[in-house]
Amino acid sequence: MTAAYLEKLNPEQRLAVEHGTTAGDSHIAGPLLVIAGAGSGKTNTLAHRVAHLIVRGADPRRILLMTFSRRAAAEMGRRVERICREVLGANAGITADALAWSGTFHGIGARLLRDYAEQIGIDPAFTIHDREDSADLMNLARHDLGFSKTENRFPTKATCLAIYSRSVNAEAPLDGVLRDFFPWCAMWEQQLRDLFASYVEAKQMQNVLDYDDLLLYWAHMLQEQLIAEDIGSRFDHVLVDEYQDTNRLQSSILLALKPDGRGLTVVGDDAQSIYSFRAATVRNILDFPKAFTPSADIVTLDRNYRSTQLILAAANAVIDLASERFTKNLRTERQSTERPRLVTVRDEADQARYIADQVLENREGGARLKQQAVLFRTSSHSGPLEVELTRRNIPFVKFGGLKFLDSAHVKDMLAALRFAQNPRDRVAGFRLMQLLPGVGPSTAQRVLDQIGEEASPITALTELPPPPRTGDDWTAFVETMRQVKSGKAGWPAEIGLVRQWYEPHLERAHEDAATRQADLVQLEQIAAGYGSRERFLTELTLDPPDATSDQAGVPLLDEDYLILSTIHSAKGQEWTKVFILNAVDGCIPADLAVGSSAEIEEERRLLYVAMTRAKDNLDLVTPQRFFVHGQHAQGDKHVFASRTRFIPATLLQFFEVCGWPQARAESAAAIRAREVRVDVGARMRGMWR
Ligand code: ATP
Ligand code: MG
Repeated sequence: MTAAYLEKLNPEQRLAVEHGTTAGDSHIAGPLLVIAGAGSGKTNTLAHRVAHLIVRGADPRRILLMTFSRRAAAEMGRRVERICREVLGANAGITADALAWSGTFHGIGARLLRDYAEQIGIDPAFTIHDREDSADLMNLARHDLGFSKTENRFPTKATCLAIYSRSVNAEAPLDGVLRDFFPWCAMWEQQLRDLFASYVEAKQMQNVLDYDDLLLYWAHMLQEQLIAEDIGSRFDHVLVDEYQDTNRLQSSILLALKPDGRGLTVVGDDAQSIYSFRAATVRNILDFPKAFTPSADIVTLDRNYRSTQLILAAANAVIDLASERFTKNLRTERQSTERPRLVTVRDEADQARYIADQVLENREGGARLKQQAVLFRTSSHSGPLEVELTRRNIPFVKFGGLKFLDSAHVKDMLAALRFAQNPRDRVAGFRLMQLLPGVGPSTAQRVLDQIGEEASPITALTELPPPPRTGDDWTAFVETMRQVKSGKAGWPAEIGLVRQWYEPHLERAHEDAATRQADLVQLEQIAAGYGSRERFLTELTLDPPDATSDQAGVPLLDEDYLILSTIHSAKGQEWTKVFILNAVDGCIPADLAVGSSAEIEEERRLLYVAMTRAKDNLDLVTPQRFFVHGQHAQGDKHVFASRTRFIPATLLQFFEVCGWPQARAESAAAIRAREVRVDVGARMRGMWR
């Protein structure tokens, strides 16, 4: 008799789920690639495969599962738990967190690096810099080398970091990266080399790793055969979702873990590759089978279970115009009579009103807010909509935009915890000390210089004479750091200590201290969910909670709220009703001026990703008029926008084309009517002749 969970799958999905599991329990299957279109059940198949492996006796602690976000990993854990309980019963003890090694590449990397820190000569107390911290550190290095003064034309800190990051992630030499992606910076090659050398040195001195280091150090650690074998042998199965968006470093990590591919499963969709700016390469997925002998088994899935036939037809039509050929032709059996809508509105304000109206109407019709999502190319596009939603009291959560942790007071608190964890972390220390009245940048620098080289920086700190005019504030600061560092209070009590110390500073610096204090209470609650200070800092830096409409961190699970998300962050998810904002040239594709054809193609895939998130209804909204913030001192102005080039006239047949509000939007007939010139008076006069 076949288990019920297998019977729900289609034959191809089942092939992937059962791949190599029929040959006996101790057998580990050869490499497997599932390559298939959007909504064909790749993620679902992966979850079933993990569950099936466990049902067949695999040890969940020896499964390594890597997903696109921590949220996706948690969701995967829940699905695995559900299936395992169905088959094995609750007594088998398979819970959602039984998968001890599931998370993002970066999160898993951080954990392994702490485990092996001693062997590779790093201090396991390292802290992790987010992009903003990294840019700050890069900036310090720029200043130290005097590059920030070079007639002001030296690349900005953000550009420097982007160049560095691309070079590292693509495992590509700097000159090539400059030539291909940053030609206007090529003249600075030697200076950039010096800058990166000193940036790397600064990170090592301060015992911090940036995001890229988590992959880079991991990959380098695996170059040591014995370590690679040791880590590889910890895991019987390694499974990766969204493989099309991994970069060279990530694929070399996988190959080092499982050189013969046994136990390795990857799934992805080449038509959805949207992360090339992080050096992701679709070659990873295309070359996967060839990386092994015998080559990997490939399963393709061609039935879409997510979208209605009319939505899928429109999405397929969009991707069919791509210059590359994606081989999958998706079909669905979900019939419907509603074509996706292409809605013309006057401007962004009307766009916001239209969406708010529709969202409420949908809710009346039974679709909860959570089943609806508004997607956009760039985080800033949702500004007018956020205002409108707030005005109408429609709660929302925004993914991929401003994070809870981006607010100054939360950053202050985290800097304090980070500094206690790793007192060599200068970016944290620099931020922190300047909270003290009387301490400016130069004093902060000096103190950090004085303690930075000491074996025990916090002890050194307690022995320093207080800087002038700091008095009791200094003593309170030093004492708090000492207490937290000692770890005696335990976690999460430590964060309470930091909050006690920080509150007077908060009141001094911010008028809205009361609201901010509420955030800190919430931060403490979030913190309680993590086992240790180190775990909390790592996870929070790598995958921070998203901002809600009231900026209060993560909403309660039973609340209903609308989802606002960048298209990038919407990857892998689905909603009953989806709105795509600003379906106009200049927004998607973004920034026409600099688009190489490869970049434009990536924008097309982005639109495809966005459209394929919808289950029942899809609206693409196109404002006719746009307000742009002037660059190069041209000032702000209105520009007229045209429908995205990815939906040329030949594709309009796939959409219901309409305007909103009906009375105001100009129909084609109305525009033509305005061109008409008749002399009605003459006709009147002629009537009597
Ligand atoms: P994406 O490319 O967007 O990541 P995907 O290929 O990972 O999509 P899933 O998210 O796994 O697709 O599945 C899409 C939807 O189809 C989900 O709602 C899932 O529950 C449903 N689904 C998948 N397989 C089946 C099946 N055999 N029977 C019924 N529903 C299915
Ligand atoms: Mg998926």
